[in-house]
Amino acid sequence: MIDTHCHLVDPQFVRDLDSVLNRAQRCGVSKIVNAGYDTETSQRAISMCRKYPWLMPAVGIHPNEAAEESIKKMDKISAMLDNDNVVAVGETGLDYYRDFSPRDAQRELFRMHITLARERGLPILIHTRNSLDDALDILKAEDYHRGIFHCYGGSYEQAKVVMDLGFYISFAGVLTFSRQARDVIKRLPLDRLLLETDAPFLAPLSHRGKRNEPAYIIETLHFAADILETQPEELEAILDANAREVFSC
Ligand SMILES: [Zn+2]
Repeated sequence: MIDTHCHLVDPQFVRDLDSVLNRAQRCGVSKIVNAGYDTETSQRAISMCRKYPWLMPAVGIHPNEAAEESIKKMDKISAMLDNDNVVAVGETGLDYYRDFSPRDAQRELFRMHITLARERGLPILIHTRNSLDDALDILKAEDYHRGIFHCYGGSYEQAKVVMDLGFYISFAGVLTFSRQARDVIKRLPLDRLLLETDAPFLAPLSHRGKRNEPAYIIETLHFAADILETQPEELEAILDANAREVFSC
């Protein structure tokens, strides 16, 4: 099982990373996309895959980081993309819920990530919060069609636009306690679907409110299989094929 979005670069994993990774492997997690959210954690994602080659780095700056400052740091992200191990640009996107940084600057930062993704032929990991339609408008205007709407929280109608534009839709542990996410996933074609943990955030139901970790993706997988009325093994095979397609891994 591939965890398509996770932040093992987060300081919450410094103390016990080895045991976290052991538990993940014991539970059948074969690969993890390890996404940076600023220049420091993006660099760490690259260094970590030297020791753990099955952690696939993604580099980018999260919209919750002060966007105006971040714009100046994008040449560093660009340089990191010279590393062949990097599988995606992100985490990036727009966050109008927290609104830590001006929306214009967020949009500019997002466009810069899209430009880098295009130059390198990489998928883009997109975070949206109260900003899905704006993100879709930017992707349409930029004519970019490769990547993932991670931790999907939109409606089915929005999901149709996401898929029409060529993007994948990924659900995190929220699926295990959100009726809306459950209603949406039921209606999606399996070939556009991915699962992730977004660890250390958004743990699934049985660990809700605690630190999340990649091993817990299995709980979300079982939950999704239940909703989709299929076997976990069958669903896992489909999801992993989707992940290999989007990340070319
Ligand atoms: Zn994330």
